[in-house]
Amino acid sequence: MSRKARAVIDLDAIRHNYRLAKSMAPQGRALAVVKADAYGHGAVVVANALNQDADAFAVACVEEAVSLRENGIEKPILLLEGFFDGEDLKAVQEYNLWTAIHDLGQIESLKNWHGSQPTQAWLKIDTGMHRLGIPPELTRSAFEQLSSLPHISEVVLMTHFSCADELDNPATHDQIDCFNRACDGLNAARSMANSAGTLGWFDALADWQRPGLMLYGASPFVGSHPFGDKLRKAMSLRSEIIAVRDIPPGDVVGYGATWMAEQSTRVGTVAMGYGDGFHRQAISGTPVMVNGQMTKIIGRVSMDMITVDLTGLTGVNIGSDVEFWGETLTLDEVAPWYDSVPYTLTTCLTPRVHREYLNR
Ligand SMILES: *Cc1c(COP(=O)(O)O)cnc(C)c1O
Repeated sequence: MSRKARAVIDLDAIRHNYRLAKSMAPQGRALAVVKADAYGHGAVVVANALNQDADAFAVACVEEAVSLRENGIEKPILLLEGFFDGEDLKAVQEYNLWTAIHDLGQIESLKNWHGSQPTQAWLKIDTGMHRLGIPPELTRSAFEQLSSLPHISEVVLMTHFSCADELDNPATHDQIDCFNRACDGLNAARSMANSAGTLGWFDALADWQRPGLMLYGASPFVGSHPFGDKLRKAMSLRSEIIAVRDIPPGDVVGYGATWMAEQSTRVGTVAMGYGDGFHRQAISGTPVMVNGQMTKIIGRVSMDMITVDLTGLTGVNIGSDVEFWGETLTLDEVAPWYDSVPYTLTTCLTPRVHREYLNR
């Protein structure tokens, strides 16, 4: 019998969410962001599921891009952080990758590069995030230098938002204005929006959107949102009850004896722990569904197991189904209980969690 800790992933939901991203700007195109193993959903399977629809894919680094190519993905793939050395640049050539350019040094490297296949360069402008990108005032000069290189077929202008998930935060307006001023008069496609930009900021919808999180069904916004609510949940994290016991009031549960029963309590032990990438920050009280009924985690998360309160639940036995997040209990809802955000909850799942795919 295999371990029951598993992530059930609905590929139809991911296709639906990609189409929603595209529908926000019907003339626009969208890079499906599948970095970090598609936020823990399995990059190769997700990319194959989107292969018909996707205009292009985006990953963080060369290794991720090579893995997609070696598994048959032929659509364009953008390296969101570009190349870092000569080896990377060789891979750009060999695997026919698009590359971000976020630093003038990378333009110098490209001048000395004699790639035989022309490729796209995505010139990244730092409009306020201050992580990657060239200063806005250097945009024209960098654009002209890049455009003049014989092995650069097209230059796309891009920037990245720091606060687009906060719909009342004026920083995004400032970033959009800064970007539009920097790009003024340059004849090139443009790209600003991550998921939050795509769903929440019409002014950010340019030629290319770059949805990541939303593909997997999590809304970037806190609370209800007219477009965020149209997303379909892609992952359900599940396992099973492997032991049941009754304890009297005053007894404690788990490492550090952090939880004490106030009444007679039925305790269920579940095959799921931080060895599966399940966040140890989950506190007693974190909601969980057992056999379709809402209850809570009690005691500390350990490496291979966690304990849940089964008191008053019906029909629960060894082998009963446990859902940590999914359709009913959404990632957005549970993330704060883990002192976390949806991004990390799925991305941190380890290979020990089986990925089961629906609608391949
Ligand atoms: C990760 C990433 C994205 C996707 O962001 P989400 O918030 O997950 O939609 C878009 N653009 C860049 C440059 C990124 O690094």
